[in-house]
Amino acid sequence: MEKKVLVVEDSETNRVLLHDLLEKVCYCSVSVAVNGKQGLEIAQADLPDLILMDLGLPVLDGMEATKILKADAKTRSIPIIALTGFVSNEDEERMMDAGFDGFLPKPFDVRKLLDKVCLYLTARENLQF
Ligand SMILES: [Mg+2]
Repeated sequence: MEKKVLVVEDSETNRVLLHDLLEKVCYCSVSVAVNGKQGLEIAQADLPDLILMDLGLPVLDGMEATKILKADAKTRSIPIIALTGFVSNEDEERMMDAGFDGFLPKPFDVRKLLDKVCLYLTARENLQF
């Protein structure tokens, strides 16, 4: 079955880039949200296989949205990758505390991004056997 990826990103440029790239290269179905609250609602309704979550988001930021998803038994097992700029050790600790499963630094290295996304989608598939 086609994998579902949710991209939560307020920058239109990044949103369009990620949407097109993932649909064309990873053959997954990509939904997008423009803020943390919308991301939360789509994640709860659609239960995607993977979420790419920007940290700086309007209404509800990526850190808070992830905490809520990871505290809910229904959405806890969905891997969430943070999309973020420079990451210090302290930032990394905060992301792990919030429940993120990994992070991708901005600006995106397209190759690394696709490798990571494919890795998470395949790992999840393997878990089901
Ligand atoms: Mg942002």
